[in-house]
Amino acid sequence: MPSTDPPAALGDAPALAARRLADLSERVPRSGSADAARDALDVFAPATAERIGSVPACEASDVDAAVARAREAQAEWAETPASERATVIDRFGDLVVDRREELLDLLQAETGKSRRTAVEELFDVPTGCGYLANEAPGVLADERRSGVAPGVTTATVTYDPVGVVGVISPWNYPLTLSMADALPALAAGNAVVLKPDEKTPYGALALGELLEVAGLPDDLFQVVTGEGATVGPALVDAVDYVAFTGSTETGRVVAERAGRNLIDCSLELGGNNPLVVLDDADVDEAARGAVQACFSNAGQLCLSAERIYVEEPVYDAFLDAFVRETERLTLGTGYDYDAAVGSLIDAAQLDRVQSHVDDARERGATALTGGRARPDVAPYCYEPTVLVDVEPDATLACEETFGPVAAVTSVSDADAAVAAANDSPYGLNASVWTGGRDRGVEVAREIDCGTVNVNDAFLATWGAADAPMGGFGDSGLGRRHGPEGIRRYVESRTIGVSRVGPLGFPDRIPTDWFVRGAFAALSLGRRASRGVRRVKRRFRRR
Ligand code: NAD
Repeated sequence: MPSTDPPAALGDAPALAARRLADLSERVPRSGSADAARDALDVFAPATAERIGSVPACEASDVDAAVARAREAQAEWAETPASERATVIDRFGDLVVDRREELLDLLQAETGKSRRTAVEELFDVPTGCGYLANEAPGVLADERRSGVAPGVTTATVTYDPVGVVGVISPWNYPLTLSMADALPALAAGNAVVLKPDEKTPYGALALGELLEVAGLPDDLFQVVTGEGATVGPALVDAVDYVAFTGSTETGRVVAERAGRNLIDCSLELGGNNPLVVLDDADVDEAARGAVQACFSNAGQLCLSAERIYVEEPVYDAFLDAFVRETERLTLGTGYDYDAAVGSLIDAAQLDRVQSHVDDARERGATALTGGRARPDVAPYCYEPTVLVDVEPDATLACEETFGPVAAVTSVSDADAAVAAANDSPYGLNASVWTGGRDRGVEVAREIDCGTVNVNDAFLATWGAADAPMGGFGDSGLGRRHGPEGIRRYVESRTIGVSRVGPLGFPDRIPTDWFVRGAFAALSLGRRASRGVRRVKRRFRRR
């Protein structure tokens, strides 16, 4: 059974004081009409359920004022060379590393996650900064494309920032999921107004402060705190692009509103992610990977695996190893590295996890380990849980649980595993375990998810800052990371230049001659490019 740590109060956080939280809350911009004393939103530490501070409950007028200021600041930022913008982001990455102890304390205080998980999250921020510093200027540089015909015209594509980007982020990874969307927007020359989840506002405010120290001009990055239903729609109405991370349900509301405003959006939404163990896998390695896939951040990770499909010949061996590894996990919320798994975010999340497990059990499932809340560790702690015999129509099998619960099912072969993995409206992330890497890649190509990890839980794809990440189906629209994650924030402009004056029917040649000549040139051009294609294919085959 998992061991326990005593619950940690804010006072245990070595680099954090309540006064500091109050200072951060002062950073939220308010318009003149707002009554700061009346409109405060309390923030609680999940580790103790104690109130640790409050932040302003902004209203639509606050959002409008913040966006107006951001718009003004953005005009000059757009003119700043991309390499200088990248330097500011690089410097910010260094500051995050320097100030990591305080940021880790803050992150743990407002999420209740274990320090190990907090480190994994924080690590991601400077990694992303490094990628943007190296690559963003190149991704944003003008590009020459093929013109109408060689020597006749040129075509050049330029990339301009869209203006002000609204970022709406969730509570589960409040630092990395705010920055993964905000930093590429800033690198592309935009301003950002960020709305963090009401449960976790402090991390984003602290990072805003560091962006300022790194040299980001005033008002280019602002954090507006408050209720999602008030601040979210106001933000979508005021900005030029919205990057949303959260539930599929809210994502649909955001997409509808963005559509009405004719602005573009990216939506990083929920998942009910599969993990597949093939019969040639090293079951011990697969079991360790499954523990990471299912129980990181107490399962409150959009990329978490919740459904495990194992080929029949290795089912028993995998299940034994998986239960054994799960039982080695330690539960706790201390500000040290003792615990592997921390708290759930709040009572509602605990209820959700508990009700999904209860529903599965009522339909015949068995918990081989876990399956109960641990209020003795912290008010919202839940044991890492391994279930078998989960009915395919159980809530747990169909919906996202977003907690430390995994359902393990035996399947006849790899095709059945792929069919089961794809039997979901979601398509965010998957993991495949095999002794043959080529076989793993083959199976990965069949799985309908935006990211598929072979012999890894999720870091092989999430950690690849140069590669796009996002969801199929109900898991979202658009991609973050890589060039795709930068280019979503720009308007492309194609500039075509003619070297021969106006194109079209010339005055001095009879029209029927010209038409015949034009089609002859077209056929010649098509034959020539087919020839080039054939030669290229032959070279590629060698
Ligand atoms: P949520 O949709 O309730 O909240 C997310 C954000 O949206 C919060 O900041 C919230 O205040 C805001 N919001 C609420 N109502 C809004 C509205 N009407 N308009 C605009 N914004 C509004 O999400 P949640 O349930 O708190 O977060 C967990 C969910 O997020 C899970 O489903 C998880 O899978 C998903 N998630 C996805 C990713 C990803 O990258 N795909 C990452 C993390 C979390």
